[in-house]
This record gives sequence, C-alpha cells and structure tokens, in this order.
Amino acid sequence: MATILSHAGITTTSCDNSGEERENHPMSPPLHTATTYTRPPDGIYKDSDSIYARMDNPTRLLLEKNIFDLECTNLLYRYRKNKDDDDDEKKRDNDDNGTRIPLLPLLCTTTTTCYSSGMQAVTSILLAHSSSPTNMTVLIPTDVYHGVRSLLSGVFSRHGIHVRGINMSSSGGNEEDIHNHDHNHDLHNIIVWMETPSNPKCEVVDIKTVCDKVRSVGERWKNVIKITTVVDGTMSSPVLTRPLELGADISFHSGTKYLAGHSDALIGTVTVSPTSHRGRTLHPLIKAVQISSGGVASPWDSWLTLRGMRTLHLRVERQCQSAMKLADYLEEKRIKTTISGVWAVHYPGLPSHPQHDVATKQMNNGYGGVLSFELEDEIAATAFAGAVRIAQRATSLGGTETLIEHRASIEPPDQRTSPPGLLRVSVGLEDVNDLIHDFDTAFAIVKQVLSSSSSSSSG
Ligand code: PLP
Repeated sequence: MATILSHAGITTTSCDNSGEERENHPMSPPLHTATTYTRPPDGIYKDSDSIYARMDNPTRLLLEKNIFDLECTNLLYRYRKNKDDDDDEKKRDNDDNGTRIPLLPLLCTTTTTCYSSGMQAVTSILLAHSSSPTNMTVLIPTDVYHGVRSLLSGVFSRHGIHVRGINMSSSGGNEEDIHNHDHNHDLHNIIVWMETPSNPKCEVVDIKTVCDKVRSVGERWKNVIKITTVVDGTMSSPVLTRPLELGADISFHSGTKYLAGHSDALIGTVTVSPTSHRGRTLHPLIKAVQISSGGVASPWDSWLTLRGMRTLHLRVERQCQSAMKLADYLEEKRIKTTISGVWAVHYPGLPSHPQHDVATKQMNNGYGGVLSFELEDEIAATAFAGAVRIAQRATSLGGTETLIEHRASIEPPDQRTSPPGLLRVSVGLEDVNDLIHDFDTAFAIVKQVLSSSSSSSSG
C-alpha cells in the first residue's frame, strides 16, 4: 500500500499511451490538457490511442489506474490464489441471462472511473442502475452524508426511485430490512448504500456482515430482486478500509477529501469489484454513463489527486493519531463536566463508541481523522466554533488543516438530521497539543459567554 501510494502517478510507459516501456520516465505525471487527438492517416484509431478528453484523458486514466491498484491489488491476489477452489465464485460467473461474463479482460484493465465530484460519482452509480427506475429502492443508513440523502429524496425520487433509511450499525441490519416489501413488480433493483464511518456521527457499519446478509437474501430471491452493495468510504479512505476486500460490489469515495487531501481538488471515484458477479455486470454500464454523460474528473483535479495520494498513508496515520488524542481529551471533559460541558463524543476509537469492536476489526491501524462532539445546544456549539483560533471554520474534511463545523446549520432545513449542538471536526496535521490548547481556550470562552448571557437574562 505505502509503495503504491508513494509512486502514485509514476508511469514507466510512454506518455503517448502506446504502452511502450521508457527507460527515462518522468517522476511526476504529465498533465494532459488537450481535448482532442489526431486520427491516424488511415482513419483507424489504435486501442492505445486517445480520441477525446471526455472519453480517455491520459492524466485521468492514470489516476483511475492508481486508485484501482489501491482498492484491488489484495483482492485480485487473493482471488487468483483461490479461484480454482471456489465453486461458489464459478457459479456466480454467469450474468443474469446465464451468459458467461469474461473475467480476464477485466483483470487486465481497471474498473475505476473518476468524476468531477463525489456527488457526480454517486449520480453515475444510480444512473447505471435505473433502467427501470420505478422498480428501484435505495436503502441508506440512518446517519448518512446529507448530500446523498438530498440527491435521493430531492432529485432521484422524481424519477421514481424510492429511498428508505435503515439502522445498519446495529448488527448490520436485518434481512427483513433489506427485503421487506410486497412485490408488484417482476424485478426490483435494490442498492444497499453503506457509509462508514458515517458523516457526521461516525457510526460504523460492519461491511462484511451486511454483504453476507445481502448475498443470502439475493440468493433466496434471485428471480425477483437484484441487489448491489455500495460503500461510501470517504471518511476512512482506502488506507483504513478497502470495502471490495470485504465483499462489497462498489467502493465509492469523495476524492475531494482524503485522497486529494489539500482542499484544492473536487473529485469522485467509483471502483467496482472485478471479482463480484454484480460488479462485473455493472462495470460496463457505469463506464457508459461516465463517458456519455460527461461528468468526468478534469485533468488538473486528476493531477492534484495523484499528487495528494503520494502522502495519503502518512497523512491518514498522523490524522488518526491526533484525532484519537483529541477524542480522549473531549471524552474526559464529557465524563467530568455536567452543565455546559460535552454531552457526547462520537469517535470509533473510543471504547465507549457503540461500534468500537467492529471498527477495530474492520479498520486497519486507525479510526479515522474525523470526530464529532455535542454541546448543550446550538448556541453553545456556534459560540465554540466562533472561539477557536487554530481550527478553521469551514465545511469539508480530509485536508491538512483542522476544520470545525456546526453541522445542523449547513444541512438543508428540510433534511436536518444532526443534533443542534453537534460540531464536526476534521483533524489536520497541526501539532495536536496546539489543537487541545485551542479547544481548552474555546471551552473557557464558551463558559464565560453562556454564564454572562444567563446572568443578564435572569437580571
Ligand atoms: N460522501 C461523503 C461522506 C461526503 O462527506 C461528501 C462531501 O462532503 C460526499 C460524499 C460528496 O462529495 P463531493 O463534495 O466531492 O461531491
């Protein structure tokens, strides 16, 4: 993993896409800005030729290949090792009409596609499914990034897609939750959308347990439903969790956050499992949506993301360590203070977190760089956010700078799910002792503000 990341964007093959090995290759990827490429005199493009930037910009293709390596190297290694013994996998090797889906061509290419934003990536996943939209339900966790909820209920609901929230964090939800409705239709598409840890309450979903349940429901109802498991792993990044290795069909990231990592690129990534039957069926559909609808990642954002990925493992490691220290500090405050103190701390690394054991099993060597905590009410929370000096008041997460945000006031009024006193913190790369000092000062200011406002209102 560290080796793949440190070499992100280094290509030993010729920049003209011919696939020829070069001995003196560049240590930084070329930024290809051309939108169009010349056609050979005979009019026939070679397989390795670029044609038009929406389809095959070389800088974007390089990013897609690097993300694919990150998400799939272990998976493919294990798959190749076990493939001959695995009868179930052989059975699943047929598509829905019983036609054999070739596995090998997919193994030689990437199944990653990159988009102009995380939300464009989500849109493409949905569009790839909606051939019969009125027969489609998306199951989302109760705590989920509000943009996903808004996209589903505000946009895709108008195209007949149903959305239902279920509690996936408690033992991965029930099989009845996954499939609990009467069927008036011949065939129903279901997307089980996981987000782990969730934004903003850091709830953890046991990906393997959910995927196992989905597989057993899918096998029982195979003539009636088709189910896709998708994991939004934005908050953990592939350094901490690789969902495809745990059985998911699709791994999605807002690359805007940890992958790019410097608050300067907007990008979304989708990697479908090259070894799951559902993934192999969906890959050509997703690819077709990407190049036909054109929401592709720009060359510059692709380049910045490749640059950011080179330090992803080091950034995430430090951010996890600092987030753990900050969470411990807040947890101590929660236990010690009663009035106007910390009411709740949400961080999977804390033993008090309800899914701490799942997180320990599922996340490799760290619990993420984001945590949230709750103060008494909105007044206390906004006063706290106003009082910090080192943490910056801004939305987003995953950058080198610590960001703090009062979540409820950024959520659309009809979609508010965050508690009014909740503050989300994306921990950056500052000295964590400076951050703790910053928070200590902010707590003192909030105490002063609240006590002077309560004495003036009682006076
Ligand atoms: N998923 C999660 C968990 C997010 O936090 C975000 C953005 O904050 C998105 C998806 C959407 O990504 P983007 O802002 O890149 O469109």
